[in-house]
Amino acid sequence: AMFGTLTDRLADTFKNLRGKGKLSPADVDGTVREIRRALLDADVALEVVKDFTGRVRERALGDEVNKALNPAQQVVQIVNEELVTILGGQQRRLEFAKQPPTIIMLAGLQGAGKTTLAGKLAKWLRSEGHTPVLVAADLQRPNAVTQLQVVGEQAGVPVFAPEPGNGTGDPVKVAKEAVKHAKSKQYDVVIVDTAGRLGVDAELMKQASNIRKAIDPDEVLFVIDAMIGQDAIQTARAFQEGVDFTGVVLSKLDGDARGGAALSVASVTGRPIMFASTGEGLDDFEQFHPDRMASRILDLGDILTLIEQAQKAFDEEEARKTAEKFATDSFTLEDFLAQMQQLKNMGSIKGMLGMLPGAKGMREQLDNFDESEITRTEAIIQSMTVQERRQPKVLNGSRRLRIAKGSGTTVTEVNALVNRFEQAAKMMKTVAKGGTPQIPGMGPI
Ligand code: GDP
Repeated sequence: AMFGTLTDRLADTFKNLRGKGKLSPADVDGTVREIRRALLDADVALEVVKDFTGRVRERALGDEVNKALNPAQQVVQIVNEELVTILGGQQRRLEFAKQPPTIIMLAGLQGAGKTTLAGKLAKWLRSEGHTPVLVAADLQRPNAVTQLQVVGEQAGVPVFAPEPGNGTGDPVKVAKEAVKHAKSKQYDVVIVDTAGRLGVDAELMKQASNIRKAIDPDEVLFVIDAMIGQDAIQTARAFQEGVDFTGVVLSKLDGDARGGAALSVASVTGRPIMFASTGEGLDDFEQFHPDRMASRILDLGDILTLIEQAQKAFDEEEARKTAEKFATDSFTLEDFLAQMQQLKNMGSIKGMLGMLPGAKGMREQLDNFDESEITRTEAIIQSMTVQERRQPKVLNGSRRLRIAKGSGTTVTEVNALVNRFEQAAKMMKTVAKGGTPQIPGMGPI
């Protein structure tokens, strides 16, 4: 799968952090080292890896402490945010010309997926209510024009081309005529497919650059095969110097790519990734969202949503007070009840299960968590007097019986709760010294 190995490696790295109360500098260094190796093995460019791990390390060691999250979650969050950053930060949409037609030029190596992308883009634009036309300015490859015509037909979009199959001609002239044609026929987007070569060469760059000058496109999209690994950076730089581009399209993201190109190209070129191609079919195409791609790489499912919810429910100030209470042994069943209620604020526990990624077995932990237990616990505590809640020590047999009756539970359940509370208080006291409060009964997510 896309980024499969990288995803697994990062997940293993994070797994090693689970259950840690606090991260030592050595923990952070070890984690950063593993992330660094995982990224390098995924063919991410060294300069990008260095920057990335440098920032993760600095932030993980810094005092950017988020009390709602345990240390492992904090590291995941930092890695996620930094991934979003190297993927370009914000989503960048296609920019349309104020005066139609909008001219989009495609550039890239032969086999990168330009012609296929032209069809995908055309089909998508058509579905968005545009009237695109495809232009075959790839006169290099013998069957390029025919290929574009096939793609155009599949997309239901007209193709402007010189004589079909004609291997000669001037691509600059074709491109210029195509734009004129589009204006006269009122097409509102012109997609110009250009020739590619197997390797970067001066003539190719010159031709592409000349086409660019002749038609002054609104967008120049550099199409890059995500599977080409370390070569991606060199190729991207060559195209940036030779033609320059306004955006990047990653193609063949469906392959068993190690993903390095995807993770390097935006930060190395400073140009946003705008689209992703994920298959040979014309619908295998998506607008690129850096944040969604980052969570896909981390296989987080919607665990980030979960983290956000936890943050909202777990007010930091409240957490600090609780930690203090634990530390000073003044935590009571009333506080315990308040915590339970906060836990309920986080939404249905079972609902949250669905947001957890399946792959890495975090689900199991929550699967053991019984939501109705919270309700019964609430009932028990609510049947206690204020004194009993504050000083559980006074709970003798007859009081326990009374509470069990009042709450519709059994003495055994009352006993279990009191025991659990005492255990939790003891455990939390230890944890509180490390400054990281956790939710009783739940353990680290
Ligand atoms: P061009 O030379 O840049 O125009 O590249 P083409 O569009 O002709 O694509 C080259 C080959 O890659 C063709 O066989 C396409 O079907 C295939 N291809 C293009 N995009 C994708 C993609 O996103 N995923 C996969 N798996 N194959 C693709």
